[in-house]
Amino acid sequence: MRAAARASSSDPYATGHGDPSFHVARYDLDLTYRVAPNRLRGTATLDVEVLAPTRVLVLDLVGLTVERVEVAGAPLARHDHRGGRLTLRLGRDVDAGTRLTVTVRYGGTPRPVRSPWGEVGWEELEDGVIVASQPTGAPSWFPCNDRPDDRATYRTALTVDAPYRVLAHGRLVERRARASTTTWVHEEDRPTAPYLATVQVGRYEEVVLGDGAAPQRALVPAALVPALRDRLGDHDALLSCLVDAFGPYPFAGYTLVCTPDDLEIPVEAQGAAVFGANHLTGPDADDRLVAHELAHQWFGNSVGLRTWQDIWLNEGFACWAEWWWSQASGGPDVRTLARTWHERLAARPQDLVLSDPGYDRIFDDRVYKRGALTLEALRTVLGTDAFLGLLRAWTSRYAHATATTDDLRALASEHAAATGGEALAGRVADLLADWLDRPGLPPLPASW
Ligand SMILES: [Zn+2]
Repeated sequence: MRAAARASSSDPYATGHGDPSFHVARYDLDLTYRVAPNRLRGTATLDVEVLAPTRVLVLDLVGLTVERVEVAGAPLARHDHRGGRLTLRLGRDVDAGTRLTVTVRYGGTPRPVRSPWGEVGWEELEDGVIVASQPTGAPSWFPCNDRPDDRATYRTALTVDAPYRVLAHGRLVERRARASTTTWVHEEDRPTAPYLATVQVGRYEEVVLGDGAAPQRALVPAALVPALRDRLGDHDALLSCLVDAFGPYPFAGYTLVCTPDDLEIPVEAQGAAVFGANHLTGPDADDRLVAHELAHQWFGNSVGLRTWQDIWLNEGFACWAEWWWSQASGGPDVRTLARTWHERLAARPQDLVLSDPGYDRIFDDRVYKRGALTLEALRTVLGTDAFLGLLRAWTSRYAHATATTDDLRALASEHAAATGGEALAGRVADLLADWLDRPGLPPLPASW
């Protein structure tokens, strides 16, 4: 455990967030939010498992004020909150395996967290809130161990004024109405990374999108209901298409939130995704984004990242899913889209290594498109059936767990060997090395 903890903390993609010496197994969030003044207050109760002997635990919480901290299972000597880090100093060393309960009472005016990619996390709309935390926005609304590989179950209770509707990750298990407020309780029993935890608050209507492979709903401003019903009319077919390609849908349901405001980009959350009105209505609306965010439920949300270094495992796969849906729904086929993007990438600087792009470039568009091209190259040498078999083995072997690029290489070699023997396994290993580990853009394999 010591060695593992040291290795994790030296991860250059860990960015001063998170603490590898402990794991949070469960977050119980009991919060009240006033929309107009943007005031959040409540209690977070964390079930903590110590992973390496320590006397200090560090949580991430940015911009909010800590009112009280309690620890059960070990004496708390003192706590200290500065620079977005809440440091708990224990009265004695605790061993690996120790279970602690950490309770934090906190509140204030939540704001997004600044990052190299702009502001992420809790964000006020004109009349409501979205939380889109990828990659480091989770501490804008709750104290957490902000690492993509530290996944927990959640109970999220959020009390808001009555006209507002709340969505959080997981199933809605309770809705308690009082005179002027309603408490919305969501339970997520699948392991969830802090960046995929979310709350959405707004004046939304619910639209049923389909009940085929899983219940799919949209939360939409009343004025956009007719337009969205029309625009998302084939969502059930989209989900079936992705289930056929990638395997069973990994969560209890899917909720697509369309905010009344325009947003910069759509973002995935656990069992949900958030779109701006501009992504789904008007001249810039784009169907490929709907497929992309839904595909993240398999790639990123179920099969999760161990480190941000491997972000192509999320974004490359979600981009390839856009192309697959385009082909299935009568648009340009995968091969045509791949050729187009290959030409575009060939005209851009060849200085990005997909398996290690550098923390500042994890959201570089080339990570997305080259990632998708890597998968298309793999499909070309394996054949479509074997390739889709590999994707389904990937989503099944690493369902609700974390994985790395090396895990994918190993599984791809295994599949190639089973399909075409050692010669094919060797060819696949070489292909992945060319696409993932070197900056120069390889040609797309010519033959099927
Ligand atoms: Zn994405």
